[in-house]
Amino acid sequence: MEIAIFILLMVGTFFLMEGVAWFTHKYIMHGFLWCWHRSHHEPHEGFFEKNDYFAVVFSVPSILTIVLGFEVSWLWFLKPIGFGILAYGIFYIIFHDIIVHRRIKIKFVAKNPYLKRMIRAHKIHHKCLTKDGAEAFGFLYAPKKYAVKEVENKPSV
Ligand SMILES: [Zn+2]
Ligand SMILES: [Zn+2]
Repeated sequence: MEIAIFILLMVGTFFLMEGVAWFTHKYIMHGFLWCWHRSHHEPHEGFFEKNDYFAVVFSVPSILTIVLGFEVSWLWFLKPIGFGILAYGIFYIIFHDIIVHRRIKIKFVAKNPYLKRMIRAHKIHHKCLTKDGAEAFGFLYAPKKYAVKEVENKPSV
Protein backbone atom coordinates (compact mmCIF):
# COMPACT_ATOMS: atom_id res chain seq x y z
CA MET A 1 0.00 0.00 0.00
CA GLU A 2 2.77 2.38 0.95
CA ILE A 3 4.47 1.66 -2.37
CA ALA A 4 1.24 2.58 -4.20
CA ILE A 5 1.05 5.94 -2.37
CA PHE A 6 4.73 6.54 -3.13
CA ILE A 7 4.25 5.90 -6.86
CA LEU A 8 1.04 7.94 -6.94
CA LEU A 9 2.73 10.93 -5.28
CA MET A 10 5.78 10.66 -7.53
CA VAL A 11 3.80 10.35 -10.77
CA GLY A 12 1.42 13.11 -9.63
CA THR A 13 4.36 15.43 -8.91
CA PHE A 14 5.91 14.59 -12.28
CA PHE A 15 2.78 15.73 -14.17
CA LEU A 16 2.25 18.69 -11.87
CA MET A 17 5.78 19.81 -12.74
CA GLU A 18 4.69 20.24 -16.37
CA GLY A 19 2.22 22.85 -15.10
CA VAL A 20 4.93 24.49 -13.00
CA ALA A 21 7.37 24.45 -15.95
CA TRP A 22 4.72 25.85 -18.34
CA PHE A 23 3.82 28.63 -15.91
CA THR A 24 7.46 29.45 -15.14
CA HIS A 25 8.39 29.45 -18.83
CA LYS A 26 5.45 31.65 -19.88
CA TYR A 27 5.29 34.14 -17.03
CA ILE A 28 8.73 34.16 -15.37
CA MET A 29 11.27 33.18 -18.04
CA HIS A 30 9.43 35.28 -20.62
CA GLY A 31 8.78 37.76 -17.79
CA PHE A 32 11.11 39.32 -15.25
CA LEU A 33 13.79 36.63 -15.68
CA TRP A 34 14.03 37.10 -19.44
CA CYS A 35 17.57 38.34 -18.66
CA TRP A 36 18.46 34.66 -18.01
CA HIS A 37 16.19 33.01 -20.56
CA ARG A 38 17.17 35.34 -23.40
CA SER A 39 20.45 33.41 -23.81
CA HIS A 40 18.37 30.39 -24.85
CA HIS A 41 16.49 32.27 -27.57
CA GLU A 42 19.49 33.96 -29.17
CA PRO A 43 22.44 32.40 -30.99
CA HIS A 44 25.44 32.03 -28.71
CA GLU A 45 28.87 30.44 -28.45
CA GLY A 46 29.97 27.86 -25.92
CA PHE A 47 28.16 24.99 -24.24
CA PHE A 48 26.55 26.80 -21.34
CA GLU A 49 23.86 29.46 -21.39
CA LYS A 50 22.71 31.82 -18.66
CA ASN A 51 19.39 29.94 -19.03
CA ASP A 52 21.06 26.95 -17.34
CA TYR A 53 20.70 28.80 -14.02
CA PHE A 54 17.06 27.64 -14.11
CA ALA A 55 18.18 24.00 -13.94
CA VAL A 56 20.20 24.84 -10.83
CA VAL A 57 17.25 26.70 -9.28
CA PHE A 58 14.84 23.82 -10.03
CA SER A 59 17.23 21.29 -8.50
CA VAL A 60 16.98 23.04 -5.10
CA PRO A 61 13.38 22.00 -4.22
CA SER A 62 14.16 18.47 -5.45
CA ILE A 63 17.27 18.14 -3.26
CA LEU A 64 15.58 19.76 -0.23
CA THR A 65 12.47 17.56 -0.39
CA ILE A 66 14.51 14.36 -0.86
CA VAL A 67 16.89 15.18 2.01
CA LEU A 68 14.05 16.22 4.36
CA GLY A 69 12.05 13.14 3.34
CA PHE A 70 14.92 10.89 4.37
CA GLU A 71 15.95 12.81 7.49
CA VAL A 72 12.56 13.51 9.11
CA SER A 73 10.45 10.36 9.43
CA TRP A 74 7.00 12.07 9.43
CA LEU A 75 7.98 14.03 6.29
CA TRP A 76 8.37 10.75 4.34
CA PHE A 77 5.91 12.03 1.69
CA LEU A 78 8.48 14.60 0.62
CA LYS A 79 10.61 11.75 -0.77
CA PRO A 80 8.28 10.82 -3.66
CA ILE A 81 7.62 14.52 -4.30
CA GLY A 82 11.38 15.15 -4.55
CA PHE A 83 11.87 12.13 -6.81
CA GLY A 84 8.96 13.33 -8.96
CA ILE A 85 10.66 16.71 -9.45
CA LEU A 86 13.94 14.89 -10.19
CA ALA A 87 12.21 12.64 -12.75
CA TYR A 88 10.78 15.72 -14.50
CA GLY A 89 14.26 17.27 -14.53
CA ILE A 90 15.70 14.16 -16.17
CA PHE A 91 12.84 14.08 -18.70
CA TYR A 92 13.44 17.78 -19.43
CA ILE A 93 17.18 17.26 -20.08
CA ILE A 94 16.53 14.28 -22.37
CA PHE A 95 13.67 15.90 -24.29
CA HIS A 96 14.62 19.58 -24.36
CA ASP A 97 18.41 19.63 -24.18
CA ILE A 98 19.24 16.43 -26.04
CA ILE A 99 16.35 15.50 -28.38
CA VAL A 100 15.33 19.05 -29.41
CA HIS A 101 18.52 21.12 -29.02
CA ARG A 102 21.11 18.33 -29.48
CA ARG A 103 23.51 19.65 -26.83
CA ILE A 104 24.80 16.10 -26.96
CA LYS A 105 25.13 14.80 -30.51
CA ILE A 106 22.85 11.84 -31.10
CA LYS A 107 21.55 10.23 -34.28
CA PHE A 108 18.03 9.75 -32.95
CA VAL A 109 15.23 10.65 -35.39
CA ALA A 110 11.74 10.95 -33.89
CA LYS A 111 9.10 8.79 -35.57
CA ASN A 112 6.48 8.80 -32.86
CA PRO A 113 3.65 11.29 -33.65
CA TYR A 114 3.50 12.52 -30.03
CA LEU A 115 7.23 13.19 -29.93
CA LYS A 116 7.17 14.85 -33.36
CA ARG A 117 4.36 17.13 -32.18
CA MET A 118 6.28 18.09 -29.01
CA ILE A 119 9.50 18.77 -30.94
CA ARG A 120 7.65 20.87 -33.52
CA ALA A 121 5.88 22.86 -30.79
CA HIS A 122 9.19 23.70 -29.12
CA LYS A 123 10.82 24.62 -32.43
CA ILE A 124 7.90 26.97 -33.10
CA HIS A 125 8.49 28.40 -29.61
CA HIS A 126 12.04 29.20 -30.71
CA LYS A 127 10.93 30.99 -33.90
CA CYS A 128 10.34 33.92 -31.60
CA LEU A 129 13.61 35.57 -30.53
CA THR A 130 12.00 38.10 -28.22
CA LYS A 131 10.50 38.15 -24.74
CA ASP A 132 6.98 38.76 -26.04
CA GLY A 133 5.05 36.98 -28.75
CA ALA A 134 6.25 33.41 -28.17
CA GLU A 135 3.85 30.44 -28.12
CA ALA A 136 3.91 26.78 -26.98
CA PHE A 137 5.50 26.94 -23.53
CA GLY A 138 5.00 23.29 -22.50
CA PHE A 139 7.40 20.33 -22.76
CA LEU A 140 5.14 17.37 -22.10
CA TYR A 141 1.96 18.58 -23.71
CA ALA A 142 1.29 20.62 -26.85
CA PRO A 143 -2.15 21.33 -28.35
CA LYS A 144 -3.24 19.34 -31.39
CA LYS A 145 -2.56 22.24 -33.76
CA TYR A 146 1.18 21.50 -33.46
CA ALA A 147 0.77 17.96 -34.76
CA VAL A 148 3.01 17.09 -37.70
CA LYS A 149 0.83 16.09 -40.63
CA GLU A 150 1.87 12.77 -42.07
CA VAL A 151 2.51 12.95 -45.80
CA GLU A 152 0.63 10.15 -47.47
CA ASN A 153 2.47 8.30 -50.16
CA LYS A 154 -0.45 7.79 -52.47
CA PRO A 155 0.60 6.79 -55.98
CA SER A 156 -0.20 9.63 -58.38
CA VAL A 157 -2.67 8.73 -61.08
ZN1 LIG B 1 11.28 30.41 -24.13
ZN1 LIG C 1 14.50 25.40 -26.08
